[in-house]
Amino acid sequence: MFGFSIQKLLFTVAAIFAVWYGFKWVGRMKEVRDREARDRLRRQAGNAGSSGGGVSGAAEEMVECPACGAFVAATGAKSCGKAECPYPG
Ligand SMILES: [Zn+2]
Repeated sequence: MFGFSIQKLLFTVAAIFAVWYGFKWVGRMKEVRDREARDRLRRQAGNAGSSGGGVSGAAEEMVECPACGAFVAATGAKSCGKAECPYPG
C-alpha cells in the first residue's frame, strides 16, 4: 500500500504546472499592458510636442514681476517697459 496514488501524484504535478503557467501568463499579460501603456504615453507626449508648439513652455516656472505684477517665464523674461522692471528689455 502506497501513501499516495499515481493519480494523486499526477494531479499534484498538473496542479503545479497549472499554477506555474498561470503565473507566467499573468506576468506576460502585465508586461504587455505595461508596454502598451508606455507606448500610449509616449505617443501622447509626441503628439503634444509636435502639434502644441508653445505647450512645452506651459511647464516652465513663472515668476511675478515686482514692478508690474505680470507673470513672466523665469527663463528668458522680458521687460514690460516700466522703468522699475528688473528684467532686461
Ligand atoms: Zn515688469
